[in-house]
Amino acid sequence: MHRTRRHLTVLALTAVAATALVACGKEGSPPVKGPQPDELPVYQVQSAFRLPSSPTWGKARKRGHLVVGAKEDQPYMGEKDPATGRYSGFDIEIARMLSASLGFDPASIRFRTIASANRETALQNGQIDYYVGTYTINDNRKKLVGFAGPYYMAGQSLLVRTDEKGIDGPQDLDGRRVCSAAGSTPYQRIEKDHPEAELVAYDAYSVCVDNLLTYQVDAVTTDDTILMGYAAKVPDELEVVGRPFSKEPYGVGVPRNDNALRLALDDALAVHERNGDWTKAYDLTLGLSGVPAPRPPVIDRYPAS
Ligand code: GLU
Repeated sequence: MHRTRRHLTVLALTAVAATALVACGKEGSPPVKGPQPDELPVYQVQSAFRLPSSPTWGKARKRGHLVVGAKEDQPYMGEKDPATGRYSGFDIEIARMLSASLGFDPASIRFRTIASANRETALQNGQIDYYVGTYTINDNRKKLVGFAGPYYMAGQSLLVRTDEKGIDGPQDLDGRRVCSAAGSTPYQRIEKDHPEAELVAYDAYSVCVDNLLTYQVDAVTTDDTILMGYAAKVPDELEVVGRPFSKEPYGVGVPRNDNALRLALDDALAVHERNGDWTKAYDLTLGLSGVPAPRPPVIDRYPAS
């Protein structure tokens, strides 16, 4: 009897773990349902564009293509299809429209996956030309990198299992295990405002989600944009609860000294917001979560310092 029961428990856990891996694992899980590549907007390549005052642009020009940092495990925002290697999502569309404005065919972009904790170093070392991946603009980061934008306003939220009845907001996190990405603003906010929560950090949110599905943690916290994508993959098992409790203005990260590039990207964002590309891109990606396109936030062309 005892043995049988233990056997059943093991079976049940295996089943949950299998669902988790299929649902959200970094490797092998298909992207959320989205448009086919040929349904996405075509961004007009500005072949005559020149930006001689930007060292980053000059380097890319010699190379013949842009290298763009992104996320690969954030459905709706930045997700890599393990079968084709193709990246898709709202951030990826932003990266592609900006590439066209800088005179590079978006199809030629080489995307590189960079985790939250490594973004500043990647920009400082010249590993990437710019970064588009749920990257919150704030004063601390502005000491290390530059930001074009903002191009979207997100907010920190909580993802729990649908069988969780005790968590509705950050006030319920005391004594609970909460997972987030190392180096992220949501991690830092919980550490500061909810010191009684038991924080767990990984490089990628998809690992947090696997831990949530296998009962290793009680909640995952980061931006609502990211969490809605995970919930959409397994709506029976995961849900976003409460209201967003922060403002996360997303910027395009650039090397700090390259003000020419930053301002050119600000100009390009303004053009794509005006000509409808931004809304089209939103509707075909993040908009699939059911939230209608908001107005993009006001672009902050801050002076060089
Ligand atoms: N927007 C937040 C940040 O930049 C969380 C999302 C992320 O880690 O990319 O830290």
